[in-house]
Amino acid sequence: MEPFYTTDVLVIGGGLAGERAAIEAAASGHKATILSLVPPRRSHSCAAQGGMQASLGNCVKASGDNANWHFLDTVRGSDWGADQEVARMFAEEARVAVREMAYWGVPWTRATPGKNSYFIKGERVEIDEPEDKAGMIMHRDFGGTAKWRACYASAGTGHSVLYAVDAEVSRLGIEVRDRMEALSLIYDGDRCWGAVARCLRTGELTVFAAKATIIATGGYGRIYGKYTTNATINEGTGAMLALNTGKVPLGNMEAIQFHPTGLWPSGILITEGCRGDGGYLVDKDNHRFVAELEPEKQELASRDVVSRHMMQRIKDGKGADSKFGPHIWLDLRHLGEQHLKTKLREIWEICRDFAGIDPVKEMIPVRPFQHYSMGGVRVNKDGQAYNMRGLFAAGEAACWDMHGFNRLGGNSLAETVVAGRIVGQRVAQFVDGETLDVSTALTDAFKKEQEARIADWMSRKAEGPSVYDIRDAMGEIMIDKVGIFRTASELEEAVVGIKDLLEQVKTAGLHNSKPGVNPELTFALRLEAMLKLALITAKGALERQESRGAHSRVDFPQRDDKNWLKRTLARWPVGASEPVLSYEPVGMLDLPPGERGYGHATRIPLEQSVEDYNASVAEAQKAAGKQDTVEPMGSQIQWGAWEQADTKAASS
Ligand SMILES: Cc1cc2nc3c(=O)[nH]c(=O)nc-3n(C[C@H](O)[C@H](O)[C@H](O)COP(=O)(O)OP(=O)(O)OC[C@H]3O[C@@H](n4cnc5c(N)ncnc54)[C@H](O)[C@@H]3O)c2cc1C
Repeated sequence: MEPFYTTDVLVIGGGLAGERAAIEAAASGHKATILSLVPPRRSHSCAAQGGMQASLGNCVKASGDNANWHFLDTVRGSDWGADQEVARMFAEEARVAVREMAYWGVPWTRATPGKNSYFIKGERVEIDEPEDKAGMIMHRDFGGTAKWRACYASAGTGHSVLYAVDAEVSRLGIEVRDRMEALSLIYDGDRCWGAVARCLRTGELTVFAAKATIIATGGYGRIYGKYTTNATINEGTGAMLALNTGKVPLGNMEAIQFHPTGLWPSGILITEGCRGDGGYLVDKDNHRFVAELEPEKQELASRDVVSRHMMQRIKDGKGADSKFGPHIWLDLRHLGEQHLKTKLREIWEICRDFAGIDPVKEMIPVRPFQHYSMGGVRVNKDGQAYNMRGLFAAGEAACWDMHGFNRLGGNSLAETVVAGRIVGQRVAQFVDGETLDVSTALTDAFKKEQEARIADWMSRKAEGPSVYDIRDAMGEIMIDKVGIFRTASELEEAVVGIKDLLEQVKTAGLHNSKPGVNPELTFALRLEAMLKLALITAKGALERQESRGAHSRVDFPQRDDKNWLKRTLARWPVGASEPVLSYEPVGMLDLPPGERGYGHATRIPLEQSVEDYNASVAEAQKAAGKQDTVEPMGSQIQWGAWEQADTKAASS
């Protein structure tokens, strides 16, 4: 491997967001290079199951759907934590991005005209699908949406989409360096010039010098140890790259999504599409408690709401017993064998292979697990990081921020391809005006820093605490004290506990000091940063004295728009022992703060007028480090267009 490599656009991450952005840059005539921990087709995107949201309106239950509805659902779902301009850009572009996937070969499940049988709110319903939609991309119902909007390929949507996008990457001849981990960004003041990466096969370091760098490394779910649906590679290394600059803030790290239905006890995801297609949640008495508590949306209220109801049920002693602890049941039996083995095929296989269960005949044990990272590298609407020119982020790694405090199911896969398109275009424009003006003295300095870090770990004996024990202790703290229900005292304990683990890292040792294929060393190099992300998550949750979306404070149960209609920004100054938290407005408000239509209904209202709030946004965000965007702030908002959608959340 050459020690020095140059490219126009360095994309760190070979999942959907990274590959889609690389395609955009390459299609504009730039040299794009992708780094990935694994071959791109094994990226976490491949595991996505149930679908991706785009308001195509191709079946009766989706009729009348459009970008206004999608915008409304997304902002409501976020509990008003989202940047509404980004939510609008997303809702408009999702329809194009999803159709583009059909052109690239995704085998979408298609609409079948004539009588179709569905389960809706517990009842079997027959609906005549019209002839004029025959063969169009079909939709299924997902949580928190007014219309059926999730486009899907059985229950293997991520697999199908990632393979199609990766084929396009190959067709364009984009260079992919897999098993190559970016360890550090290279930057000169506030200008990023690429990254130093370590080959996971040989241990060698390479400088990847680039005019623009995109972080597309996915989420940081693994700070919750084994209590997550995320792949083992989702360790937040992208957030770490940004955080270690000391300048680039991470946004809303305390906004952690728990998915209601992880297979118990392994945590493998059982898609929301199961409930979308009519699955029920029942307690140990076979009682459909969620349907009772949420009469309108039933099992398809948003994920934060359903997860809370499930955990409360378990706390109330109504969970079903198992040798691993109590859980809730997911019942799909009424959907029938034909449905389960076609439209939910991958779920049927997961139950068979990982739990020895046949969901045609048996109920599935489930419990909420950490699932999605709403927080990430804070970027503007062009995807450019705060305080760092030439650094961009997209996908789950970014806080762009269309999800606020709760992401709707199906909105993440759609985000990867929408943000990939938009950010990729902006990166291409950025690169047009740049030359690669970086000195080898600078790149050498960053490389030497990583060499020293690796040498330090390799010199340590196995006498100190094990890196894996520290990881497991972090996971236990996070699930116990920074979980679905949060209180000040538990969050304070979490902060103390994580700080203690950070101390332990200083004396941790390795059993294997080989430089090449060495998973222990590879993990050790990530551990300190994972703990920093965990600490930022716990501190952000402690400071935020309200309940919003997935952030549920038992001691502050109301959403507080008067004091907390803002985004947390966290930086870790170089050499500091603590993160620095600050806040900025969420963005300009088009849809005024209101009720979501499900979940808790009380809130402390915004005291300012929406106009006054909006007038303060640009200056406050600039002061927080936001870079100028190609188009001015607010230019993508379609003011008041959401009024053209019926403001009631009920399905039509
Ligand atoms: C089980 C499961 C099912 C899901 N189902 C759905 C669904 O049905 N619909 C939906 O909308 N969302 C779903 N999601 C969420 C969605 O799949 C993810 O949010 C999305 O795929 C993330 O894509 P990404 O491109 O941002 O990151 P990823 O797909 O996670 O890709 C990250 C990439 O970064 C690389 N990488 C990481 N760190 C480094 C580094 N330091 N150096 C080099 N490379 C690095 C990795 O190798 C990988 O290639 C699901 C999530 C889970 C966990």
